[in-house]
Amino acid sequence: MIDLRSDTVTRPTAAMRRAMAEAEVGDDVYGEDPAVTALEERVAGMFGHEAALFTPTGSMANVLAVRGVVEPGQEVLCEERAHIARAELGAHGAIGGVTMRTWQSADGRVPLERVQDLFAPDLGVYFVATAAVSVENTHNFAGGTVVPIEELRGLRAWADEVGTAVHVDGARLWNAHVATGTPLEQYGACADVLAVCLSKGLGAPVGSLVVGRSELVAEARVRRKRMGGGMRQAGVLAAAGLHALDHHVERLADDHVHARLLAEACGVDPESVDTNIVVVPHDDAPGYVAAAAEAGVRISAVGPRTVRLVTHLDVDRAAADEAAAVLSKLA
Ligand SMILES: *Cc1c(COP(=O)(O)O)cnc(C)c1O
Repeated sequence: MIDLRSDTVTRPTAAMRRAMAEAEVGDDVYGEDPAVTALEERVAGMFGHEAALFTPTGSMANVLAVRGVVEPGQEVLCEERAHIARAELGAHGAIGGVTMRTWQSADGRVPLERVQDLFAPDLGVYFVATAAVSVENTHNFAGGTVVPIEELRGLRAWADEVGTAVHVDGARLWNAHVATGTPLEQYGACADVLAVCLSKGLGAPVGSLVVGRSELVAEARVRRKRMGGGMRQAGVLAAAGLHALDHHVERLADDHVHARLLAEACGVDPESVDTNIVVVPHDDAPGYVAAAAEAGVRISAVGPRTVRLVTHLDVDRAAADEAAAVLSKLA
């Protein structure tokens, strides 16, 4: 079976497992796990921010990140297919007391005029006040699309003018970085707070981080514990993340090549594929998924007429070629 359902399905490599086994650990709730601390400091530095917090999942990182800039009873604006809106089971409302309104864009981008139209200043007792705008980069359900740095800079400048925060759901910001060559620090400079994942294309088994100001991260640390996310000898997991940062960032370029190859096989313009996700329109998505599975390729339906393929660390060129052959026959 070639598994293209998600880049979360990767298994830790032998070298990553060795790094995990050799990790120096301590009780991280006491702040005594050297590997966790090293990972947090390293990732904060990569984005040019003061601090970072290790979390078990990207969803928890997003909940803590958004809550860091939005108070209960306030709203965050996001694209309608954003992971925070669709795929976190309402956590921002259920846990954070945060409401959302959404804009639509074909490619998950951030049309500034649309955001400006939605924006609600805090006028007191009538409208819900907009406290943050969330950007997903790359945008998962739009097909791994990159939000260009120029667009983020425009958003940042406007957000500063009106006094609203910018949250970046950067589960796959590494992919955007590798695809465009934009330094991570430049993405960091456009955000008040970011959530980034080690467990997607980077191939770690577990782990994400909230990145931001020291004070915001300190509050997030308290809230993480309140949610039951205070982990003890988490250094074995942080070591996997550190290993991934050392060895699995630049190779994301291979995943991007493989994604274009698969796009072509599925009749999707490869030029429209920015990174490692291919979204394929199909009249009968569940039927297509079942037929592909029968032929040895696992893909997923993300809507009744939308199929998604994701390339990753555990799909090499030979596997990508094989999957392409299977899918082009089905197409
Ligand atoms: C995967 C993902 C997350 C986090 O998901 P978890 O499964 O909770 O780690 C957040 N945002 C985006 C865009 C994602 O694709």
